[in-house]
Amino acid sequence: MHAAWGSATDCGPYRRLNEDALLAYPPLFVVADGMGGHDAGEVASRIAIEEASSLAGRPVVTADDVHVVVRAISARVREAVPAGRTVGTTFAGVGLATHDGGSYWLVFNIGDSRVYRFADGALSQISVDHSVVQELVDRGVIAPQEAHRHPDRHVITRAIGTGPDPDPDYWLLPVGSDDRMLVCSDGLTDELADDELAAVLADVADPQVAAEALVDAAVRRGGRDNVTAIVVDVATARSVDADSTAQGAERRAAAKPWDELSDGSTNPRASRARVPEVDR
Ligand code: MN
Repeated sequence: MHAAWGSATDCGPYRRLNEDALLAYPPLFVVADGMGGHDAGEVASRIAIEEASSLAGRPVVTADDVHVVVRAISARVREAVPAGRTVGTTFAGVGLATHDGGSYWLVFNIGDSRVYRFADGALSQISVDHSVVQELVDRGVIAPQEAHRHPDRHVITRAIGTGPDPDPDYWLLPVGSDDRMLVCSDGLTDELADDELAAVLADVADPQVAAEALVDAAVRRGGRDNVTAIVVDVATARSVDADSTAQGAERRAAAKPWDELSDGSTNPRASRARVPEVDR
């Protein structure tokens, strides 16, 4: 198993603070989008990433590991919040997991940040938003294409920190030989349609360049919110070696053996996690 990844985040031209935060370190790739304004939203998302960092450097993660982290985030956010403020954070991402000797993506989500899989030239959204608009779409009240313009499109129905019991969704998907995963905040998907995300993921081989290209495109489109993207490529050595195109060569050059990054210990390596600056 080889992995390569890249990440980018931008405050955007209108917001004073970047309340998004991210972790991109195997086996975990997470985006947290804090809400609650100054001294609150960015604190909540930073707490989320600090807690998630406790899993960085492990060979694999389980849903139980992630659930322990989610509960810890919830407890710390609720403690840190000034009385009377509504503060919380989304938490969405993907981790490498194993099951019966096979490699799996563990996808998890609470809120409206998203996880997509790009495979065989097609983009599919794996996570399901916890939002008022998603509920209206599910009930057939509005069409999916109306969701973008709906006045309640930013109202989420689940988050960490806003209630006593955080309730994430989990999915376990077998890793495909050429999967490219995208984890992003709503600032990306508010500005760019799925076919625009897919075009960048198809055209830009290097995952760091792809993550930056996605964020730049969303900021140029308007950047009304903070924008964050993580792109993760995992390929078996065989599928990477078999790809004789220029993209295959680039992906080979960027890929690192997963096992060399994971030392097998369960010690937190938070210092190696990338946490974006929050006040720009
Ligand atoms: Mn946002």
